[in-house]
Amino acid sequence: MKCVVCGKNSERSLCVDCYLKKNRIVEIEDVEVTVCPRCGMFRVSGKWKSVDLLEAVSSEVEKKLRVHPDFKVERVELKVGEKGELLLGGSFWNKDVEEFLEFEIKLKKVLCEKCSREAGGYYECIVQLRADRELEKSEIDEVNRIVLETIEKAKEDTKAFISKVVERREGIDYYIGGRNIGRKISKSIVEKFGGKITESKKIAGRKDGRDIYRFTYSVRLPAYRKGDIVSSENKIVVVTNPKLKKGLTLPELKNVNLKDARVVVRRENIEEGIIVNCDKYGMEVMRLSTGEVVTVERIKELKVGDRVKIFEVEKKHYAFPEKL
Ligand SMILES: [Zn+2]
Ligand SMILES: [Zn+2]
Repeated sequence: MKCVVCGKNSERSLCVDCYLKKNRIVEIEDVEVTVCPRCGMFRVSGKWKSVDLLEAVSSEVEKKLRVHPDFKVERVELKVGEKGELLLGGSFWNKDVEEFLEFEIKLKKVLCEKCSREAGGYYECIVQLRADRELEKSEIDEVNRIVLETIEKAKEDTKAFISKVVERREGIDYYIGGRNIGRKISKSIVEKFGGKITESKKIAGRKDGRDIYRFTYSVRLPAYRKGDIVSSENKIVVVTNPKLKKGLTLPELKNVNLKDARVVVRRENIEEGIIVNCDKYGMEVMRLSTGEVVTVERIKELKVGDRVKIFEVEKKHYAFPEKL
């Protein structure tokens, strides 16, 4: 058979070159992508996703691209700038071809579900950070980090946001978009610090004939911290692990589990001392702050010249090694 246009030998009435001159084997429409102006997420196949413009355009291109069924595409290169540029390489009727397409990219701005909820002050739960003492700055910083990290990890969860943070005399309240995120946050706090979670719920209204609840996760940190001195079962104990409720008794330095522990000295109020005298039963320790010498029970592991920590409970002095 000969090509009806150029007369070259051809398997078809039009040879591949003449066919390509007269016909487009790829076509694309302009592409519209939806972006949230607040958080920058894109809507991809009906879902808000944390992807970049290239990825968002790429998924739209797949829908807007029409390719001749005989065009065997082997390579696709997509560039996104002022305009979209698409290069398709492959073979058509046994001829190597490269097709270049340009298309417009329209950005449509729509507030995503998460941002519109967030802007509306929506919340399903409150995570309350509490302790039977003042919260420390380092604890608050760490909890803030846990909150942000949990939210960041669940970026595509439409309820993963903080509506507000309220500092109260009793502690800090985090108003969280979704109940699951709130639960995750409270679990991570307890994993880090120990303590316990108390869950409660309140009816916040009705929707579609069903009660809507607001949940509260009250996270209470342990009353004692590492290095605090507690009284537990009539023993004076240095807390070594508040999360696992462990400590060392004085003066034996024996490992014990804390039970109904009550803080008797905060770690900030523990002083430094140096052992100036030692016998079988007792040690004389000089307070570094005042130079005053006090007597404490003997701790086997210590000798004259060692640095110690020193504190007083009910008129009795105690010392323990600087490094436990
Ligand atoms: Zn021809
Ligand atoms: Zn958004």
